[in-house]
Order: sequence, then C-alpha cells, then structure tokens
Amino acid sequence: MTSRPSGSHELIARAYAGGRASAPRLAVAQAVGRAGGAFTVDELTSIVREQDPRVSTATVYRCVSAMACSGYLSRVGDRDGAALWVRCEGDGHHHHLVCTSCGAIAHTACPVDAEVLAASAPEGFTITSHDVRLYGLCFSCAARSEKAGG
Ligand SMILES: [Zn+2]
Ligand SMILES: [Zn+2]
Ligand SMILES: [Zn+2]
Repeated sequence: MTSRPSGSHELIARAYAGGRASAPRLAVAQAVGRAGGAFTVDELTSIVREQDPRVSTATVYRCVSAMACSGYLSRVGDRDGAALWVRCEGDGHHHHLVCTSCGAIAHTACPVDAEVLAASAPEGFTITSHDVRLYGLCFSCAARSEKAGG
C-alpha cells in the first residue's frame, strides 16, 4: 500500500461534503488543486491521469458534479461548448472573470444593481437569483498581447 498523505480525509470531506473516500475521488480532488485556474472536465481528466491513468472521464464527471453540489467548485463559464469550473474560495455573493487566454480567474464584486435588476423583470415575474459570466484577459496575457502588437 502506498502511504496516504495526511489530510486526504479532510480534502474528501471538504470537496465532496463527506461520502466515500475512494482513490479516484481523492485523485480528482487533488487534481483540482493542481489545475491552477478554470478547467473543463476534459482538462481535469488529463491532470488526473498524470497521477492515475485508470480514472475514467465518467468518474471525473461524477466527481465534478458532486463537488459542484457541495459548493467546492463553481461554474464560471464555457470554453468551446464545455462548462468551465473553478475552485472558489471567495466568500459571499460574487462573480468570476475568466482569462480567455490562460484560464486564470479573478473574483469580482457583483456588477448588478438590485433595483435595476428588479425593474427589468417582465410583468408578473420576480427575479430570485442571477448569474453573471465575465470574460477578458488577465494582466500578463494583456501585456503579452500588447507586446505582440495586437
Ligand atoms: Zn469565487
Ligand atoms: Zn491570462
Ligand atoms: Zn451578482
């Protein structure tokens, strides 16, 4: 048996809000920590497989959806039709800006004015929640594209 790094149980508990502590579940949660920015399920699968090539894409899908339910992961947008996920450690209501070049994530304050939002509801509707997805370039990608004359 390989020795488990200490804290693997805490990681499972945090990522999946408890449940079964299997090797694939742990590998997927650890891969999230190595992803470093926003990722699709396919990208996360490649990261998981660097450590354990036997983990299937279906397993990663199930893990990501469990981590979304527990609130460990947030959906921050789409890339080429696939959902983009990120480990969000921010507190309270906020939104995310995704760098379309490198996938870096920034937490942003909510740009939605509650009164404007309420006033925009169609007759008879009440708006109870919203989702804002912001895309752009991070500082270093913006600097790179400026240097390239773009
Ligand atoms: Zn966040
Ligand atoms: Zn970037
Ligand atoms: Zn908001």
